[in-house]
Amino acid sequence: MSKNPIILEERKSFVLSNQKKQESIIDCEKDSVSGAVSQRACVYCGARVVLNPVTDAIHLIHGPIGCASYTWDIRGSLSSDNENYRNSYSTDLREEDIIFGGEKRLEAAIDEIMESKSPKVIFVYATCVVGVIGDDLKAISKKKSQEYNIKVIPVQSSGFAGNKKDGYKAACHALLELMGPKEEKEKDYFEINYLGDFNLAGEAWIIRNYLSEIGVKVNVTVTGDATCEAIEKAGNAHLNMVQCAGSMTYLAKQMQLKYNIPFEQVSFFGVTDTAKSLEKIALLSGDKKIIERAQNFVREQVETANIELKKYLERLKGKKVAIYVGGGFKAISLIKQFEDMGIRSVVVGTQTGKEEEYKKIKELTEEGTIILDDTNPSELEYFLRKTKADILVGGVKERPLAHKLGVAFIDHNHERKHPLCGFVGAVNFAKEVDLTVNSPVWSFIEKKGGEAYVYEEEFYTLERQSL
Ligand code: SF4
Repeated sequence: MSKNPIILEERKSFVLSNQKKQESIIDCEKDSVSGAVSQRACVYCGARVVLNPVTDAIHLIHGPIGCASYTWDIRGSLSSDNENYRNSYSTDLREEDIIFGGEKRLEAAIDEIMESKSPKVIFVYATCVVGVIGDDLKAISKKKSQEYNIKVIPVQSSGFAGNKKDGYKAACHALLELMGPKEEKEKDYFEINYLGDFNLAGEAWIIRNYLSEIGVKVNVTVTGDATCEAIEKAGNAHLNMVQCAGSMTYLAKQMQLKYNIPFEQVSFFGVTDTAKSLEKIALLSGDKKIIERAQNFVREQVETANIELKKYLERLKGKKVAIYVGGGFKAISLIKQFEDMGIRSVVVGTQTGKEEEYKKIKELTEEGTIILDDTNPSELEYFLRKTKADILVGGVKERPLAHKLGVAFIDHNHERKHPLCGFVGAVNFAKEVDLTVNSPVWSFIEKKGGEAYVYEEEFYTLERQSL
């Protein structure tokens, strides 16, 4: 990578070309390089991602109105009942508050919310400016909790105090504060908590149904379609299963310390991982009936899904994909899922992947695959062109880049409206990949990507010299 004109010197250790014979590892779990235009969101946004799906809580943003624009509308998740979470509240801090402090404004906002909504829980998010002026969120939250006999929970998420992952951690602390004591009475059935599913398009419901089919109860999903009351009782489960490792492993570890609940990593992306995860949970229940039911259920579902998936294999075989997603575990599942479809991963990147996850990515991908940590649009464009990827999988921030290059795009994040998890999700996913990558639309545009990619080192060199 040393002669590459696009990758900043400080970014080079975060980019790896998979060379199987070399021991080389990628730099990761660090703050973004200044000036590299990271795709990562701020600490506050990280916290909001995790907490916002709590349906009956009030989400109060203590900061300038701009921070509050990160709402349900751009980060949707589904609810089976309460819709409080679809509204955003802000203290709308102005210049005067920055000079004299914003605590009075926060108190007034809580009073107003209590008058009109009388919720049981209010999450109060700190933003950058609150971290700078030093409003005492903890003290005000305590005062208001006592005054109204509710839970006002501070979320220490000043945007500048780390990266998106620190926001996940701040959200986990807020959730722990909400969780009550473990009940004395032991349950005579096997019950789990499902951590790290935000029910964007009903995924939590699908997994809940699968588990119900095999005889496993779900105590609470954290946080998709969760109520405050359900989260309060999270300490009563026998097992925590973690889907989104990046945001929820910390919570699972803390719950192990607090409630002695063990945790296991699962993945419900793709037929293989879904089957393995259900069988794993069944085995952990130690209940022969559950194990048997899981085996039968998985066999039936895999058979049905594979018949459906077969329809797409011929049409997808030989295509190349670039993956850029939030967490390492999701990227790993996607590599396997694409492999099952006959699609090769030529670029794999994550915003918050861990060292062991990147090792697994290296192991699963072929020689020469580009692996990226906390990348930016310039690098992504460069590698999309260089590898001639047919599809980019990412989130809302990656979509325009793919479309400008004339490359098929799959949203595996928050704008999608259909579930991509479980057996049904695996079929949805293959269908979407086929519809997208084989769409006739590509023949009507002047392609800068896909088959028509032109990679010219001179072009980039000249561009950079002229800056
Ligand atoms: S970086 Fe700071 S100012 Fe910007 S959205 Fe995040 S908290 Fe608000």
